[in-house]
Amino acid sequence: MAELVRDRGLVLQTQDHAETDLIVSLLTEGRGKLEILAKGARRLERTWGAALDLLNLAEIVYYRRRSGLHLLREASLLRSFPKIRQDLSRLEAGLSLAQWAKDLVPRELPDPRPFRLTLSFFSALEGNGAPEVLLCAYKFRLLTILGYRPVLSGCLSCGGKEKLAWSADRGGLLCRDCGGTGEEVPPRVWRAMEALLRLPLAALNHLHIPKEDLETIDAMLAAFRAAQVAR
Ligand SMILES: [Zn+2]
Repeated sequence: MAELVRDRGLVLQTQDHAETDLIVSLLTEGRGKLEILAKGARRLERTWGAALDLLNLAEIVYYRRRSGLHLLREASLLRSFPKIRQDLSRLEAGLSLAQWAKDLVPRELPDPRPFRLTLSFFSALEGNGAPEVLLCAYKFRLLTILGYRPVLSGCLSCGGKEKLAWSADRGGLLCRDCGGTGEEVPPRVWRAMEALLRLPLAALNHLHIPKEDLETIDAMLAAFRAAQVAR
């Protein structure tokens, strides 16, 4: 018999399956990322539909199966995020955040931190914080929780704080003397990166980072992820 499990999860992606079914990717509190088959979820009379909308927080009860997809038995809506849906820049950030979680959080991970981090950032996006700032902060923190913490406090080899470049391969800032190549990362940019990683979530609302610096940081994050995360 398959085990019956109750959990909370954020809907990261939904995909139509067969005539009336949905395959739902969720970031759960108890088991990391899960893919669950919701049979008949697209039939009108099913009330699951709304609970399983993208980016919603749902309570789910499902049958755990050892192979193949788990099977949903019940789903109910715990929270939706209407402000994220109504504002294009918030929606883009929310979808991008969900995509990072979907790509990076392992299946069946018995660690609630990625779920809690993601939920706290959905809540922050639903508030007044700048979506681009929140998205970059989320990426740094998700990488860190999953064991890929970038070195941002100075050169990763000598600890120096001058002439720093970004070394995605080595895992953070690397000074020229230690072999750092490419464009120099200005102090204001790497201090902004440290702030994105460390500041309490509420304080991120007061963090002002120029748009071009955020774009630079986002590009460094993308390079870091590509070099460090083998998935
Ligand atoms: Zn160095």
